[in-house]
Amino acid sequence: MAQRSSVLLIYTGGTIGMAKDEQSGLLKPVNFDHLLSLVPEVRQIDCELSTMSFDTPIDSSNMSPEIWGALAQLIATHYDNYDGFVILHGSDTMAFTASALCFMLQGLNKPVILTGSQLPIGIIRTDGKENIITAIEIAAAKKNGLPLVPEVAIYFEYRLYRGSRTYKSNAAHFDAFHSPNYPELAEAGVHINYNHTAIRKPDSRPLNLCLKFEPNIVILKLFPGITQEVVTAIFNIEGLKGVILETYGSGNAPNQPWFLSCVSNALAKGLVLVNITQCTSGAVESGRYETTSELNKTAVINGHDMTTEASLAKLMYLLGSCHSREAIKKGFETSICGEVTIPASNE
Ligand code: ASP
Repeated sequence: MAQRSSVLLIYTGGTIGMAKDEQSGLLKPVNFDHLLSLVPEVRQIDCELSTMSFDTPIDSSNMSPEIWGALAQLIATHYDNYDGFVILHGSDTMAFTASALCFMLQGLNKPVILTGSQLPIGIIRTDGKENIITAIEIAAAKKNGLPLVPEVAIYFEYRLYRGSRTYKSNAAHFDAFHSPNYPELAEAGVHINYNHTAIRKPDSRPLNLCLKFEPNIVILKLFPGITQEVVTAIFNIEGLKGVILETYGSGNAPNQPWFLSCVSNALAKGLVLVNITQCTSGAVESGRYETTSELNKTAVINGHDMTTEASLAKLMYLLGSCHSREAIKKGFETSICGEVTIPASNE
């Protein structure tokens, strides 16, 4: 008989484990034992389930690169003892954490499934129960002794998404996540249907923890009317190392002289600038419009079809581990964990 899979469930906080504070009426994280007592069904899943909780569970608005590092470290410490991992996490920044873990856990060969909910587990209409139960089943799923999903993924409302391709798209619907530029990895109905062609193939490398993330970066979203004073002030932030420029459409930015000179001054003083689109689908296309071509003539890096969340994590990771802008640019021209589609013409 095949051995049962073992899964480690890690509780970090988020709505799934929150309850109303009697005095303030506000939602606050509660303790993990209480949460588990509300989903006794998890003990019936066909796997060896172990659990672990942050000492102080948090709302995911309080996530940080240090906590991503601690989570990655936790997984690395227990990597050999489990077949898969489930992280219970607030939905607000779940896509950021999933993206960060993709870069921190390189060579990952086991499922790391993040999930949470829009309604607390103690509420009768909660979406949390199904999310936890199916996430554990996915983390435990194996074929011929090998994990079915050897990557970081988000499971929410019947769908499994690649962690580094996902963003939170809805604050009110149970169907809160979306992966516009990459197919879903699985859909759960009567059966869990895995999209094997979209799931990452097992990695032949050993797990390599990459925890050096540079936090001194900023996301600058362009808007009509943005002033020179604002752009100059941002580019001159003391200690700033990199900027994710969220541009219009297929990567377009103002081609007015003041903007272009802000960009070239920023590049001249060593900042790394990455161009991604504000659109939720599609990619930055080089040289389609006059407004992109000016940016393309500079050393601004093309972020192609990456989400804001993945670009942020990738920039933090590459700034933390590379010593030259060339190496960082090369990193952005490579899909490190399936986070980006590099057009054939760039390869
Ligand atoms: N504010 C919560 C969090 O991200 C929202 C949620 O869990 O859905 O922690």
